[in-house]
Amino acid sequence: MVAIRCDERGFDCDYVTTGNVEKVIFDYWDHMSKEHGIDYSLGTLEKYLKKKISAQIPAS
Ligand SMILES: [Zn+2]
Repeated sequence: MVAIRCDERGFDCDYVTTGNVEKVIFDYWDHMSKEHGIDYSLGTLEKYLKKKISAQIPAS
């Protein structure tokens, strides 16, 4: 399970979404579009999330 908090992206906003990668990407993309009027590409969010995941889980 992964999570994106809106404030970790630099917004003064308490939105958070958790779940599997596909859900979080879509939820956050939808939130950015509706609440902040920012049209991120899904690919950009996917890259951000994958980078975040790999930073959180140390390679064994
Ligand atoms: Zn937000």
